[in-house]
Amino acid sequence: KQERKESMMIALNYAKDFFVETMQKNEEGNAVGLGYFRERGFNNQIISKFDLGYSLNEWNALEQNALKKGYQADILAAAGLIMQKNDRQYDRFRGRVMFPIHDLSGRVIAFGARTLKKDDKPKYLNSPETEVYHKSDVLYGIFQGKNPIRLKDNCFLVEGYTDVLAMHQAGIENVVASSGTALTEGQIKLIKRFTNNITVLYDGDEAGINASLRGTDLILEQGLDVRVVLFPEGHDPDSYCREVGSQRFGEYLEANAKDFILFKTESLLKGAENDPIKRANVTRDIVQSISKIPDPIKQSVFYKECSRLLGIEEEILVDEGRKLKSKEI
Ligand code: ATP
Ligand code: MN
Ligand code: MN
Ligand code: MN
Repeated sequence: KQERKESMMIALNYAKDFFVETMQKNEEGNAVGLGYFRERGFNNQIISKFDLGYSLNEWNALEQNALKKGYQADILAAAGLIMQKNDRQYDRFRGRVMFPIHDLSGRVIAFGARTLKKDDKPKYLNSPETEVYHKSDVLYGIFQGKNPIRLKDNCFLVEGYTDVLAMHQAGIENVVASSGTALTEGQIKLIKRFTNNITVLYDGDEAGINASLRGTDLILEQGLDVRVVLFPEGHDPDSYCREVGSQRFGEYLEANAKDFILFKTESLLKGAENDPIKRANVTRDIVQSISKIPDPIKQSVFYKECSRLLGIEEEILVDEGRKLKSKEI
């Protein structure tokens, strides 16, 4: 079992080298893959730091090379690199730019892969769950980001692979990506090994705002301090950094990081000012979030602050919070 996992990781590392080499040395890889990263403004340093690569637009390029080197088809399949259907075998990743996903110690355990065609679906194709890749326990960028996260005592959380790259290129290295889904408990525990502070930088679209409102109670529950930065509509960290430049991007983060509870209260209150029923529901929702905070001092500060924002007596909020808490048990 352990041996099999080891074989899979050796195969994944081989695939990573193959994709890197294809992008650097192969004509198609150079023109299409490297050309793509260049066009998006990513420099060589970032490309090599994240082991970025390219998979040829062919059915069996990786498979044939791997078999020649002595890798076994069933290991390649178990690692999610090739698909086996009926009697046919073919590469999972074809004609895509490749983002290796590293574990905490820097070993490749999976890939994210972006199409280069405008309306091709899915835009990102990822490795499946395998014996070495448990999606819910992994964060993209944790290997490159762990020391900076510890040093800065803060972890920026973004949605996308390219957001991580853009921020590293801008000199902001304490960042990981959730890959577009709400954080799981395993992922939060991973971050907690390095810091107790998370700053959520989700895309400035409805999906991003909703994701940051939804996933966050779980983070509060784990005792972390959460801040949120909202980007102008239509922007994500990568596109915004590209638009305003590294310097101003960093300043924007500093100036706009807002405590999550206050952010949530203000964004839910928008449009509910004159609607008592809505305001009651918003209040309950906020109290729910506050009641998750394990530290009683922090909790009390938030009750006070939100009582002011909501125009409801603090005692009522505290009572309601206690009720919610006792119902849980
Ligand atoms: P790009 O800038 O390259 O267009 P992005 O990272 O901004 O990519 P989003 O659409 O904002 O892309 O999605 C955020 C993240 O969600 C992606 O980086 C990827 O990890 C994940 N994701 C997006 N679409 C898919 C998909 N169809 N299947 C699986 N994961 C996806
Ligand atoms: Mn988005
Ligand atoms: Mn983007
Ligand atoms: Mn995005």
